Amino acid sequence: MKIAILPGDGIGPEITAQAVKVLNALGESFELESAEVGGAGYAAHGHPLPQGTLALAKAADAVLLGAVGDFKYDSLERSLRPEQAILGLRKELGLFANLRPAILYPELAGASTLKPEVVSGLDILIIRELTGDVYFGKPRGVRECPDGPFAGQREGFDTMRYAEGEIRRIAHVAFQAARKRNRRLTSIDKANVLETFQFWRDIVTDVHKEYQDVELEHMYIDNAAMQLVRAPKKFDVLVTGNMFGDILSDEAAMLTGSIGMLPSASLDVNNKGLYEPSHGSAPDIAGKGIANPLATILSAAMMLRFTLGKAEQADRIDNAVKKVLAQGLRTPDIYEEGTTKVGTEQMGDAVVKALG
Ligand code: NAD
Repeated sequence: MKIAILPGDGIGPEITAQAVKVLNALGESFELESAEVGGAGYAAHGHPLPQGTLALAKAADAVLLGAVGDFKYDSLERSLRPEQAILGLRKELGLFANLRPAILYPELAGASTLKPEVVSGLDILIIRELTGDVYFGKPRGVRECPDGPFAGQREGFDTMRYAEGEIRRIAHVAFQAARKRNRRLTSIDKANVLETFQFWRDIVTDVHKEYQDVELEHMYIDNAAMQLVRAPKKFDVLVTGNMFGDILSDEAAMLTGSIGMLPSASLDVNNKGLYEPSHGSAPDIAGKGIANPLATILSAAMMLRFTLGKAEQADRIDNAVKKVLAQGLRTPDIYEEGTTKVGTEQMGDAVVKALG
C-alpha cells in the first residue's frame, strides 16, 4: 500500500514526521513517499500543487497531509497561494465527503469551554458534503434586483442546489460510517424552509431503506446547532450539506477545546482519501518543537480505518493516544497543572512506545 506524505508548511513537517514514525512502527509494509505541497510546493516548483505532487497523490492509495499556509505567501495572487493546494487536491481526487470526529478524552475535559459533565467522553462524527450546495451552485454573482421593494438596486445572489446522486452518495458514506460506530445517524437539514433540503430529507429517507439496522433521525440545522452545545453526547454520526457542515464542524471542534487533537478525512467514491489534522499550519509556533502531533497521528489512524482496511491497527493507534494522555503527557496547547509538558517529538515517541 502506497501512502503519499505531504508535510506542507509551518508545523506540517514536524507533525507529519511523528505520524510517519507511528506508521513505521506498526510493522506493516507501507510504501511512504513524500512531496512538497502548499508554500513548500511553490518555493520548490513555483506552484502550491506541483504536477509531481498531484501525480503522487493520484497514484497513492491514501494521502496524509500536514498543513499548508504561511503569511509570507499572502501577497501572492490567489491561484498561487498555499491554500489552493487543498482545493486542487479535493477537486482532482474527487473528495466529496469530509469526516470530522470530535472526541474529548476525559483527561482533557478541562480544555473545553463547556461543563465537563456535558462534554467529557464526547465521541461524535460529523460528515459534511464537500463539493456541492450553495458554495458551488450556479448562477451566482451580483446583478440588478429584478423585483420587490429593492427592484433596480444591485443584489448579490447564490444558488443552493443538490443533485439526487450527490445526496445519495454522501448518505451512503454516512450510513456506512454509522454502521462502524453506534448505528445512529442524524441528518441535518432545513426542510421546513428550503426546497433543496426537503429534497435532501426525502433522498436520505430513501437511502435509509438499505440500512434498516441504523437508526435515522432528521433534525433542523438551528435545533442541531443548539443541541450540539446543550447535549452533544446524544449524537453519534451527523450528516449534512456543505454550508451547514462547515459551521457545525467548527462548532463541534470547539466543544473539545483543543484544535491540536482533531483529525479529519476527505473521501472519494471508493473511500480513497486525504487525511489531515483539522488545524492549520500554525506559523506562530513552527520550528519550536512544541506543536501537538496527535491530530495528525489520529488522522493516520483514520486513514488505516477508512481507506486501508486496517481497523485493528487504527485501534492500536487510538488506544496508544489514550494511553499517553492517561500517562499525563501534554504538549503546551493541552497542558494543565499537574501534567507533564512534552514537545512534538517526545509526544510522537511516547505514542510509538504505547503501541505495545
Ligand atoms: P491554525 O490552525 O494554524 O492556528 C490557530 C491557533 O492554534 C494558533 O495559535 C496555533 O499555534 C494553534 N495550533 C494549531 N495547530 C496546533 C497544534 N497542532 N499544536 C499546537 N497549537 C496549534 O490557524 P490560523 O493561524 O488561522 O492559520 C495559519 C495558517 O494555516 C494560514 O495560512 C491558514 O490559511 C492555514 N490553514 C491551513 C489549513 C489546512 O492546511 N488545511 C487549515 C486552516 C488554516
